[in-house]
Amino acid sequence: MDNVRARFAPSPTGSTHIGTARTALFNWLFARKTGGAFVLRIEDTDKERNTQEALEELVDGLKWLGLDWDEGPGKEGPFGPYFQSQRGELYQSHIQILKDKGRAYEKDGAVYFKLLGERYTEFDSYHDAEVEKVKTEPVIIDDLIRGQVTRKEERDFVIQRSNGDPSFHFVNVVDDIAMKITHVIRGEDHLSNTSKHVELFKAFEATPPKFAHLPMILKDPKEGKGKMSKRDKGALISEYRDRNFLPEAVVNFIALLGWSPKDDQETLPLDSLISRFNLDDVQKGGARFDEKKMSHLNFEYMKSMPLSQYVKTAKVSLSNTGLIEPSSDESYLESAMKLCQEKIDSFENLPGFAAFFFTDDYEISEKAEKKVMKKDGAVERLAEIAPRLSGIQSWDESSIDSAFNQIAEEQGIKPFAWYPIVRFAVSGTNSGPDFLPMIETLGKERVLKRIENALAKYS
Ligand code: GLU
Repeated sequence: MDNVRARFAPSPTGSTHIGTARTALFNWLFARKTGGAFVLRIEDTDKERNTQEALEELVDGLKWLGLDWDEGPGKEGPFGPYFQSQRGELYQSHIQILKDKGRAYEKDGAVYFKLLGERYTEFDSYHDAEVEKVKTEPVIIDDLIRGQVTRKEERDFVIQRSNGDPSFHFVNVVDDIAMKITHVIRGEDHLSNTSKHVELFKAFEATPPKFAHLPMILKDPKEGKGKMSKRDKGALISEYRDRNFLPEAVVNFIALLGWSPKDDQETLPLDSLISRFNLDDVQKGGARFDEKKMSHLNFEYMKSMPLSQYVKTAKVSLSNTGLIEPSSDESYLESAMKLCQEKIDSFENLPGFAAFFFTDDYEISEKAEKKVMKKDGAVERLAEIAPRLSGIQSWDESSIDSAFNQIAEEQGIKPFAWYPIVRFAVSGTNSGPDFLPMIETLGKERVLKRIENALAKYS
């Protein structure tokens, strides 16, 4: 495709929604895939609703997700400025162009776009008044996702409000023309605006861009029916950052909201997304939000991280919760994290999962206590394994394994009979990292001390 120019045109009015991020991502993927340009245009003409805070959150969110723009704020290009609030003159001159062509007129202080066709009046029950209508030619939109969509505009519409502000429809089209946009990829909620936009393109004698309207995002079935709202869990991009999800996993997850490759593969790092992304494979029907898929993908990306990077990320969440200090023992941290990396699907859960590695003040699970420690014979088992562990000369997985095997053999039962009891004594719960490497990593001193404490507490 020649000279693709896609744009992401957000209005920074509030928190960045996942649907907004998806629009950005699909435009970005399309531009990267086709070797075109990805333009970021800030649609900030609504002074009352736009905030600096929302703009910053949006820009930070795009950067966090790794969606860099070729033209836009901070990256001036030939078609700037990229803030609509700074393009007032262009809009005024274009209002004038339409007036000169006889395609715009003033009424009650506002400027209206004039449709072409025979005019008639009709009683409109919605407005409870006589309204002027126009017999226009239908507008046919060849949507790249939805196929042919036919709509009709029958009433002139406002392009400049009485306070002098140009309308959304107008600035959106003027800028798509001025910025030589070839593809408009946006949410389905804009499909109903597209016929107005096409009418404007025609009036300016400009070829409309190709349109692709993305399906709406539906609630996770667990949360109910219908369209996902800003209040639903997982709806805001800030939430993924706050919960320490990996941006690579979040991008992968968002890409699957309405799109999937033909073979339905799900784990698709950015380079695979770019090479496999295709607007033809975007579905028409609503895209179901699936929180489980997000956790699953995050787990996949966490597992495949190099250990050094994993440790670096883990350090942040462990020091934020006060579990480790900057001066903490690196090699101990690394062994502990290696065991956690196989098990947990989010850095959000790391402090809870790994606390016992770093503090004696970890949580005791009452459920596990009842199930494991308060069972007949548990204290005896703990008491009889303690001297065996204490007798180990070189503390490693295989000597620990032998100690358990020996006692098990002597009593004619499986070594697993001791595992949960010892696990509970040293970590306060009955699940966690693999048992033997966990005991090795904790170290002899810590393990014996905790067993001693447990014996004192439960005997
Ligand atoms: N500012 C509009 C929005 O945020 C842009 C619509 C479009 O992409 O054309 O919904």
